[in-house]
Amino acid sequence: MEEIKITRAAKLKEKPDSSTLVFGKNMTDHMFIVDYDEGKGWHDPRIVPYGPLQIDPAAKVLHYAEEIFEGLKAYRTADGSIQLFRPDCNIERMNNSAERMCLPQIPAELAMAGITELVKLERDWVPTEKDTSLYIRPFMIGLDPALGVHASHHVQFIVIVCPVGAYYPEGLAPVKIYVEQEDVRAVKGGTGMAKTGGNYAASLRAGDRAEKAGYSQVLWLDGVHRKYIEEVGAMNVMFKINGKILTPDLNGSVLPGVTRRSCIQLLKDWGYEVEERRISAEELFQAAKNGTMEEAWGTGTAAVVSPIGELAEGDEKVIISGNKIGPVTQRLYDELTGIQWGRLPDTHGWTVKV
Ligand code: PMP
Repeated sequence: MEEIKITRAAKLKEKPDSSTLVFGKNMTDHMFIVDYDEGKGWHDPRIVPYGPLQIDPAAKVLHYAEEIFEGLKAYRTADGSIQLFRPDCNIERMNNSAERMCLPQIPAELAMAGITELVKLERDWVPTEKDTSLYIRPFMIGLDPALGVHASHHVQFIVIVCPVGAYYPEGLAPVKIYVEQEDVRAVKGGTGMAKTGGNYAASLRAGDRAEKAGYSQVLWLDGVHRKYIEEVGAMNVMFKINGKILTPDLNGSVLPGVTRRSCIQLLKDWGYEVEERRISAEELFQAAKNGTMEEAWGTGTAAVVSPIGELAEGDEKVIISGNKIGPVTQRLYDELTGIQWGRLPDTHGWTVKV
């Protein structure tokens, strides 16, 4: 692998107060960039001062959304060291997204070197306050400067990072969810399993509507039958019904979450039966009404787990777990955050020191 060339920023920014961090706003001093050109492969890996990119107005990414991204975090442990949580899973998912979107595969070693060298250089930006971390956003964009719907031959992989606070500063509050009837996030054969910008653009309208109606997120239904549930907002979703854990299977339109995968492993370790299968919204409402729905929660890197306290569809509303966080949701939160911040032993080998 080519050596990463580092150009340091002439003037460093003032670090934000880590007790009032707003997600995604405080970018650090540097970013990692590596170019790809067909025939030449990946070349010129470099860390440069953070700043605007120069992009040709005809670049494919701006017109045809030739873009994929990832999201992971670097955590400060009690001894002051810094660790990542399952970065190999994010890189693997990025290459699966790349395959779907006709972008080139990036060697895992190169992506990992870009991430770790940048985090090392920005180590003073990894906050130390409880529940804070450094959010890492790798992304890949197609840059051929020509209109016309074709795959790009010139691509960049870029990594930017920013300190973030606790997702729920007041603690894990249950959220209200609304079953989206009109818009769908993704369909089988589409791009739902890829982490690509267009999926998120397509989800904005339903998210806005839910917010206006007083809900925090939507529960997405499948695009074909409009019957089976897929994800909640930009999180995977799990239910505890009659002692068993249920979660939608990875059918092609659901994003394979790293937190989902980790929760399933922990739940199995703890002796729970986990069923990955099609789950209809009707089944959920029935379970809530007949008292067998014990807990419901979303899973994702940003919030880790997010308890669901209320579920609504049209005029029908059900309360889950007395609108309080349930014991399994809490245990998953405690265990995962314990491993991520190094407070608990990492028996699965999920963390990687930077
Ligand atoms: N689904 C969607 C649509 C997402 O954007 C995310 C966040 N990446 C997730 C699920 C959760 O994935 P992860 O646990 O890897 O953060």
